[in-house]
Amino acid sequence: MFTLRDRRTGDLFDRWSDLGEKRRRLLERSWAGVFRKHLLENLPVDELSHHLDDRLGRPSKDLHVVIGVLILQQLHDLSDRATVEALAFNMAWHYALGVQSEADAYFCEKTLRNYRRLFIAQGLDELLFQRLTDRLVRAFDVDTSRQRMDSTALRSAMRSLTRLGIVVETISKFVRELKRSDPALHSRIDADMIRRYVDCEGDGAFANTSPSVSRRRLLEAGQDLLALALQFRGTAAEQLSSFAILERVLRDQFDVVEDGSGKLATPIAIVRKPADVPCDTVGNPADPDSSFNAHKGQGYMAQIVETWCDDDPDGKGNDTANVSSPDLITHVEVHKMTVHDGHRVEDAMAGLETRNLKPAMLLGDSHYGAGETKAMMRTREIDLVAPMPPAKGALSGRLTLEDFALDASGLVLRCPNDIKPTSTSASRVRLQARFDLSDCRRCPDMLRCPVQADKYDGSFARFQYTPVRVANRKRRLYEQSKAFLDIYRWRAGIEATMSRLKHQMNLANLRVRGMPAMRYVVHLRALGLNIHRCARVGQGI
Ligand code: SF4
Repeated sequence: MFTLRDRRTGDLFDRWSDLGEKRRRLLERSWAGVFRKHLLENLPVDELSHHLDDRLGRPSKDLHVVIGVLILQQLHDLSDRATVEALAFNMAWHYALGVQSEADAYFCEKTLRNYRRLFIAQGLDELLFQRLTDRLVRAFDVDTSRQRMDSTALRSAMRSLTRLGIVVETISKFVRELKRSDPALHSRIDADMIRRYVDCEGDGAFANTSPSVSRRRLLEAGQDLLALALQFRGTAAEQLSSFAILERVLRDQFDVVEDGSGKLATPIAIVRKPADVPCDTVGNPADPDSSFNAHKGQGYMAQIVETWCDDDPDGKGNDTANVSSPDLITHVEVHKMTVHDGHRVEDAMAGLETRNLKPAMLLGDSHYGAGETKAMMRTREIDLVAPMPPAKGALSGRLTLEDFALDASGLVLRCPNDIKPTSTSASRVRLQARFDLSDCRRCPDMLRCPVQADKYDGSFARFQYTPVRVANRKRRLYEQSKAFLDIYRWRAGIEATMSRLKHQMNLANLRVRGMPAMRYVVHLRALGLNIHRCARVGQGI
């Protein structure tokens, strides 16, 4: 049975009247004041109450307090024990949550864990973030016409494992889970395998493997992995989550070869080359949802969209400047590392449009600046200010179309070495410039120039390109102009927000694993940062 206290009717007696004027003002202008004044009445209690019976069972805690405690726990990055203590004794928490009775001021840790599990299982974190952020946007009159977007890599609470470590942990996890769930099936596992993978004792235990022999031992561990998969396929063990991980690791890390000649009694597992292992593989069986990115490592990616205003002269975000309106995070999404940033823009903008927070201008880095993303944003009537990714070859020092001088129709006037082409031509799909090959042969940039000796006429070098390439060149040159840089410099402010999220809200040291828990924590910490920012602005109002 759920409990909901009436929060709209005022109190007959002011519980906080014994506070002096200064302490009262401090409380009202802190995060606690923002929470109590703007958010407490807008918590999604109805959505949570749907999952509790309205008549049967013990009365729940007041749902406003329940949801409030979950938010404040993440806002302050507290352990469960510290949260229970804060709820019991912290005056700011009592003020923020409108605690009115002894029953409201105490949760046991198990109750807290159960509500959090329910919240995560029902995916209420996203709803909570969106509803309360929308409320803050309206309450603080935040201008959402200009926003910026960026992504950051996050790591859950998991160790980095070698490939051998992944296989060993996978086998160990499966064996331990099988022992708990089905002791009869567990008893069929070879005792030597249990000794080597679970007990980690004696000769051949994988815990004692030195790096120099790990490749040979990976092959050995692969055979054990395959043997377990073959032994337990078609049994009750198939229902275990650890068996699904075991099958996934076997599929991703090894090629299973059936011996057609009949010399081998069973199939064998051959170790795959590292380049053939998919990025979205299991990096640690403790967190099979995480994925791998060659630049960012193992973990998750979070997309963040926030508002920005130009009354922050340094463009560093308004945590450090004296501003009248907070920059608020309006959109958060946690996804796999294997998804490109540019592919998440459309969903982000659709979500903001649904909530009436669609920006007129969005700033992003070059990961968001592809031509298709620009075109999509034009259909949504959003001005995407993001530089194009560098031209192919530019980063490796090759000359590109940007280095050639073109006329208004896109035809080459001069090459980077100031040589005029002998002829130029244009069709609907291709433009071309021809240079005297003897000039090019004398040129010090010949090896890094895109011109190629003409196949049909050996006295010329040819450079062919497309009209799309001409348009991209125009855009890239515009991106070096002062007009572009004057607007684009405001994008850098979101780096400060990322830093705040990681170090002030402590997303850099997470204690959770798995996609649902990561989403929960990231949404609530982003909401926490919004509350801190509103409190900061509120101190000046
Ligand atoms: S190789 Fe030929 S086209 Fe290229 S920069 Fe040198 S002279 Fe110009």
